Formats: sequence, structure tokens, C-alpha cells
Amino acid sequence: MGEGGWTRTTCPYCGVGCGVLARARGDGSAEIKGDPEHPANFGRLCSKGSALGETMGFDGRLVTPMIGGRRCDWDEALDLVAARFQETIAAHGPDSVALYVSGQILTEDYYVANKLMKGFVGSANIDTNSRLCMASSVAGHKRAFGSDTVPGTYEDLELADLVVLVGSNLAWCHPVLFQRLSAARERNGTRVIVIDPRRTATCEIADLHLAIAPGGDVALFNGLLAHLADAGRIDTTYVAAHTSGLGEALATARALDRDAVCEITGLTSEAIGAFYAAVAGTEKTVTVYSQGVNQSSAGTDKVNAIINCHLATGRIGRPGMGPFSVTGQPNAMGGREAGGLANMLAAHMELADPAHRRIVQSFWTSPTIASAPGLKAVDLFEAVGAGRIKALWIMATNPADSLPDADAVRDALEICPFVVVSDVVADNDTMRHAHVRLPALAWGEKDGTVTNSERRISRQRTFATAPPLARADWWQIGEVAKRLGFGAAFAWDGPAAIFREYAALTGCENGGARDLDISAYAQLDAEGYAALAPFQWPQPAGVPPQETRFFADGGYFTPDARGRFVATPFRATAQTVSEAWPFLLNTGRLRDQWHTMTRTARAPRLMLHAPEPCLDMHPADAARLGIASGDLVEVESANGTVVLRLVEQPGQRPGEVFAPIHWTDQLASQARVDTLVAPICDPVSGQPESKATPVAVRRCAVAWHGFALNTTELALAEHGYFAVARTAGGYRCELAGKMDPDNWEALARAVLGLADDAGVEMLAYHDTATGQHRFAAFRGDVLVGALFAAREPVGVSRTWAAEQLGRAIAAGERLRLLAGRPGGEVKDRGPIVCACFEVGRNEIVEAIVAGGCRTAAAVGEVARAGTNCGSCRAEIGRLIDAAELQKTG
Ligand code: SF4
Repeated sequence: MGEGGWTRTTCPYCGVGCGVLARARGDGSAEIKGDPEHPANFGRLCSKGSALGETMGFDGRLVTPMIGGRRCDWDEALDLVAARFQETIAAHGPDSVALYVSGQILTEDYYVANKLMKGFVGSANIDTNSRLCMASSVAGHKRAFGSDTVPGTYEDLELADLVVLVGSNLAWCHPVLFQRLSAARERNGTRVIVIDPRRTATCEIADLHLAIAPGGDVALFNGLLAHLADAGRIDTTYVAAHTSGLGEALATARALDRDAVCEITGLTSEAIGAFYAAVAGTEKTVTVYSQGVNQSSAGTDKVNAIINCHLATGRIGRPGMGPFSVTGQPNAMGGREAGGLANMLAAHMELADPAHRRIVQSFWTSPTIASAPGLKAVDLFEAVGAGRIKALWIMATNPADSLPDADAVRDALEICPFVVVSDVVADNDTMRHAHVRLPALAWGEKDGTVTNSERRISRQRTFATAPPLARADWWQIGEVAKRLGFGAAFAWDGPAAIFREYAALTGCENGGARDLDISAYAQLDAEGYAALAPFQWPQPAGVPPQETRFFADGGYFTPDARGRFVATPFRATAQTVSEAWPFLLNTGRLRDQWHTMTRTARAPRLMLHAPEPCLDMHPADAARLGIASGDLVEVESANGTVVLRLVEQPGQRPGEVFAPIHWTDQLASQARVDTLVAPICDPVSGQPESKATPVAVRRCAVAWHGFALNTTELALAEHGYFAVARTAGGYRCELAGKMDPDNWEALARAVLGLADDAGVEMLAYHDTATGQHRFAAFRGDVLVGALFAAREPVGVSRTWAAEQLGRAIAAGERLRLLAGRPGGEVKDRGPIVCACFEVGRNEIVEAIVAGGCRTAAAVGEVARAGTNCGSCRAEIGRLIDAAELQKTG
């Protein structure tokens, strides 16, 4: 703990890896602020990071080991896990067991899990949910560089004259990096080009937006490579000295002429020409790419098509230039480094390389070493479903919701003979299938290191009290390893000792042969580990801190030290639209949510911006289908069906729709979007194609829509459609039913959990002609619940109504509640745009229209919106644009 009780730690959400200062409060929450000294964020935090303190506490936690539905002690649980793994291995071999881990666990946890599986069990069946996030970047790096190396640093985005963002909604998915880029653009006039099928919030700072057709990236970058050659922009000196394979890559690139590139990408020749000219004419160019590139059946080729252009121009590893993969998860990079992927060994060593296997095995003095790649995530769960994996240990991830074909994953878990889940939550869609549940430490309780997207290793530190029986993931694995008879190799007394061992392995027989070397920390004592400041690798022993970029002067980690051009023939998306499935579904993240919301849904203010799962569709498509914003729609693919609220979104390409990945069965009746996605993967990386699923969309016929508020959890299971969110005073919920109930008041009481509660006074309003039924429940003067129902989506001022929950309401004001709108001088703030200061859309529009604000900064001065984390500034910009448009229209 540092000065004033503040602890320096790292945000557990995205791959930006922001430094956080945290101080525990007595009530289980914590004060949070950005660490001004952390080089990733220099004090900034986004909406998710700012709300971290509100997501903590023991509510909903798994607090004790459980076997089936029975509490047990750790010894009994660990004995059972070890025994079942041992029996399974003895009967069916090492490949009949598997670990599925997560970019949420720490590098020390990853190291221990990987050591157990690959060195002692003798199987490489350990994979991570990072497979879903950036495996194509890993594969592309390895093909081009001979190693999984991110050549540049965040500073390059600030030093560049041109930043090209491909398949990256940086504004929502890496918000602090977006803020750094926005600030650099204001300072230096950096040009920004966004290549994305959707007009996302990131486009607010774009000089050019190329709304590319899904899957068109390889064609676009092949065309760019040909253009760079034709324009005389090949750096022939660099190419001759440090690379090989340009001829073949260029010949492949030239297979498509401009017309073909236009046809594949859906872009005009003028737009493509403007993009090519900007890149050709700008030495300092950084290309940032993320899930839009990686989550594709041609993801690895997309990565290499981008890298090819940087190799050809020698724009790599120098300030302000290079290809830059930004990772989704806080420790996706640490997992890559410690061997969390089924096709890697620890410390960036290769399973396929006998010399690397020898180094790792002799370092570990292990009885065996896996010699063949294990099953990658999608294949792993198919093997579970096929009965080939018979014992599975899942850590800190929720595959029943997050993997493609999620219903098949759930079915596979259901039939798996033995499933262990280590997690912090007592219940999620994966937990429900566990035979053994093990309580893990949450963020704020655990202690270790993570690596961000720019190779910077930072500490996550303990500052909060854990439930007494929760244990670190590395400890859980180590205890099972001991019970399997491998105690001596797993006898660490804490994460510092694991980190030392890992650091020593990175330097073992390295001598510059491998990119990852942090052997400078192999002797780090407990005090040094406790005080460890963020640092970038490599940091070899005996070498002073060195340049933080790679490959400016060659030095690739291939046998001849040359970077490789990779020929990338264009391949279309694996599936395409048809009469039965006429729309292509893109999936992704929302601004204020994280993964399956087990953490972010706990913070009411993070639920204000998007409280319900929606489907974005172009207005022309909606009109053609006879549906409109506010309708509930069924979205069906060959793999599953979900029900979402329609939002007409002009930024969507016609023929394509977008849905968020976050909702689970705990929060919505039928919104597990990954049930729609087919388990089709890139053949090299094994990463699934999550952004191009053919679907059908149709109106969901319902008899009534509802909006409910309650101070306690609502009883929802039997009432058709629901999407529930926490509010400051309890819960809010959107509802719908296929049939009118016989008795509306009975329905209201049932939903609000007040069926037998005589102590509650129920105020009611009915208009049978229009189908309106409204109820407000009072205990004494206090509003404890409300239900508004109508034939159409109910017109209620939701933000205002939710704020009344739990308040004493004077008798004269109660009818106002049934009207669902504030009266008199009280203003309706509208849906919340700024989560930090809870500023609503109506307040922002008033600042624009009445206050004359023409910039996000001006709105901030008047209404405070956007003045903390800045994540909503893009949306404020859109409201300003809309107001301007209305004026001129
Ligand atoms: Fe956390 Fe936001 Fe920083 Fe990502 S950008 S690490 S979510 S604070």
C-alpha cells in the first residue's frame, strides 16, 4: 500500500492495461483513480475503469469450494479434482483432459497452468479464451517475424502522421488509447483513416471512413501493396537487407485489379485511391488492427496482408510507424508469453521445435513435455462434446456464453463426465454445469503481473479483503499438481517466486535468439516484486534497458533473421447471405460492458448507456421488413435464435446487422448472441469467424410490452421476454409477453415479487381501449416497484422513473408516477450518455440547442458530460452533428 492508503495496480478489462490507483472502502467497494505515473494511461481511465470500485464486494460471489450443490473444504475439493484427473489420464491418456483458461488470469497463473499441462500431464490441451480475441495476430506475427512480437509502442500512435484503424472500434474497445490518439490529432493534426463496415464512434475522429464489406481486408491491403510498388514506395534497401518473399506476395497481390478490389470491398475507386495515396505519401504510418481483422476465417492472412505493406515500405520498428495489434483482454499478451495457447510452449518457445522442447523440459526437470499441439478452443469444446475430453478445468471464463455455437458448448459441458470451474461468481451459464466449483480471488484481491498490448508488464496488486476461502488460481493448480505427485516442481510460496522462475526461463539459452527475455528479473526478491514498476520487454540480464521497438534494423526471429512477406490470396468469408439468411451479423462490444457482464453489470452506472441487448440495422432494411426502432426482433441463424430490441442505425451497412456479445441468461431471456455464430475458424490460427454470420431477422410478435422497476430482484422466468439491469435503487427491466394476462394486477404483483405481500399498496391505472396498464407499489410512502404495460413499447421516462425507486413520494405526486413522466419544473434527463456524471441525452441536446455548444468540450463546460473519462465524447459529437443537420435541413 502506498501513500494515503492508495495501491498502484492495473485495470482488469482491456489490453490497454491502464494503471489504477485504488483505495478500499469499508463497505467492500473502493475509490478508484487513474495512475498519473503509468505510461499506458498517464492518469486517464475510461468509463469501465472509473467504475471498477462499484463492481467489487462479496454479493454474488462464490465463497466456498462446492462439490455438486454441497459446500466442502479445500482438501476434499482438490483431492477429488486430482483423483478424477488422474483416473482419466490413466484410463484414456493425457489428451483426455484439458484446461481452458482466460485472458483474465495473471501471468503467474498462466505459467503454472501451462507447466502442469505441458510438462507434467504431458498434453498441450490447454487453451485460452484469448484464442477468440487475437490468435490470428499471433499467427500472423509468427509467419512474418518468426516470433509473436508486437514491434511498436503506444507512443507510435502519437508520433505518427497517419493512423489507419482496421477492424478496430478503438473509441469503445480501447478507450484510453483512443483518447491518446484524439489528443495527438488535436495537437499535431494526425490524419486518421477508419476501415470498418460500421460507422462506429471511432469514426468521429476519422478523416476518411471506408465502410468495407465484411471480409474485404485482404483484397484492400493486397491492392495497397501493389499500389505502393507501382508508386515507387517500396523501400528497396530495407527489403533487400532484411526481408524475403516480396516477389511472390506482390504477384499474389496483383492478381486483383482495382475493379476487383472495388467489387470485393464494396468501396468506390475514389475512396480506395484516397486511402492508398495517403499511405503511399506518409512515411510515419501506423496500422492498428483488432477483432475486426482477427475474428475471421481469413484472419491470419488479413494480418499478414497488413504487415506486408509495412515490410515493403520499411515502416516498422521506428518511431511513429508499424503494424500494431491491440489485444482485447488485460492479459492476453501475458498468456501468449507464458504459453497459454495450445500450440505454444512457455516463454515464446515453440512446441514444434525440438530444441525449444529440450530447453523447457530440462529447465522444468519435468518427466515429459508435450510434443504435439493441443486442441484450440473451438476444437477443444467439440472434443468435449464428442466425448474425447473427459475431464475439463475452466478458469475465469464463461464459454457457455462466449464461444461460437454456444448452445453446443453448453450441451458439451452437460455431458462431460467431470467439469471443474474456478471463478469468482457463484452462478453463470458455465458454472451451472460444473461438478466442482472453486472460489477464486477477484481483481483487487489477487497479486501478480499482466502484459498489455505494447509489451508492458505491470503489477496487479492486492488492496481489498478476499472472502476467507477464496484462493489464487496458481495456488489451486499447484495444489492439484502436488496431489498428482509433482509437488517439488510446484512448491512456490507466492507469485514473486513464480515470476522469478518464469523470468529465468525467458533467459534460458536465449542470448538474443528469442524476442521475449526478461531475465533481468530472474533474481527479483519479494521486496523488488512488491515494488516492481511497469516495464516493457525485452529486459535481458546484464543488458541495460534497451530500445522498446523491434525490427527497424531487421533482426527478425526467423532462421535467416529476415522478415517474411506472406502471399495472401483473397478468400471470401466462409459463409455468405442467402434467401433464407439474408443478413450478415457482426458481433462485438459495447462502450460500458465487458465480456459476459459478470463484473460490469454490477455497476448501475455502467448499465445506463445500453440497458438492453439491441440489434443495429440500417433504416432502409428495417423499412423493407416493416419493422422499426423499439420493435422486438427474432434473429435466427443456422445455429440458434435470439430476441433483441431493434435500433435503426444509419451507420450500419445495408444488408448487415450488429449485436453485442455481452448478455447472458441471467440478464436477458434469450440474448446469448454467440449461440448464432457458427464454429468456423481460420485454418492457421484457429480463431473463429465471429463477424460474418448469415441470419434472418423478423418481428417478434408480442401482445404487450412492459417496463418494470423494483427495489429487489424481479421474478422474471415465466413472463416471456425480459432484459434486466441494476439501478442505483434496485432493478429495471424491459418485458414483453405473447399473450395478455387474465389479470394485470396479478401479473404486476408476480413480476414484482409481491403476490403475497399485503403490506404494499398498489396504485393502478388502466385504459383498456389503448391497452395501457400501469401499477405503482408503495410500502408506506416509499415506491418499491412499478410496472408499465402497453401494446407498444411503453413511453416512460425511464431514467426519471428509475430515480424515484426507493424514494418517499408525497401523496399528491403519486399519480405522476403512473403517468411515467416528471412534471412541473422537473426535467427528464433522457437516456444516459455520460456514465461518469450520469448526464442524459436531453441535457446534452439542451446544451447544444439552447446553450449554443458546438464542440464536445463546450458541452462539457455546460453539462459536465465527457469531462472525466471521455468515453462519451464521440456520442456527444454525433448529437452535435444531428442538431446541425436538423438546423440546415
Ligand atoms: Fe481499463 Fe478502460 Fe484502460 Fe481499458 S482503456 S485498461 S478498460 S481503463
